[in-house]
Amino acid sequence: MNNTNEMIVEFNSIAQNEGFARMVVAAFIIGTNPTLEEVSDVKTAVSEAVTNSIIHGYENGDGKIKIKANVNERNIYIEIIDEGKGIEDVKKAMEPMYTTRPDEDRSGMGFSFMEAFMDKIEVSSTVGSGTIVKMWKEIGANSHQFE
Ligand code: ATP
Ligand code: MG
Repeated sequence: MNNTNEMIVEFNSIAQNEGFARMVVAAFIIGTNPTLEEVSDVKTAVSEAVTNSIIHGYENGDGKIKIKANVNERNIYIEIIDEGKGIEDVKKAMEPMYTTRPDEDRSGMGFSFMEAFMDKIEVSSTVGSGTIVKMWKEIGANSHQFE
């Protein structure tokens, strides 16, 4: 018996698809019965990762972004995948306020937001071949302490 529900979507790396990515993931996780705040947390994390693929991975050029997600009961797992330029030093990139694009008005907080809004994130990246951001969140985890 397996209650896991899975989805894969792929779309062009253009700014207008950031909204699409947020909406499609929000719609997909509805079955976990999240609060509005939990939906908003997941949408924010997804949009930070997708924005990174667009701006940094593909440097605003052509490319494809893929989102794979699955839900099982109250557990959400999401991958944001690009085949862009990759990250040289992932540990450094994930530090708060670290950005390679200060010229573009970036604040270097994207990964910190993803970490704050999700339970766990993992980044794997290879220079020249792309980046995968993996994120986990358990819905209703906070309400449990009161049960
Ligand atoms: P902000 O998200 O606050 O606008 P930022 O995007 O620079 O600024 P982070 O999202 O934390 O900050 O990312 C940190 C750095 O990691 C980026 O500046 C970039 O160098 C690198 N990076 C992140 N995602 C990718 C990616 N998908 N491909 C290549 N480099 C990336
Ligand atoms: Mg960012």
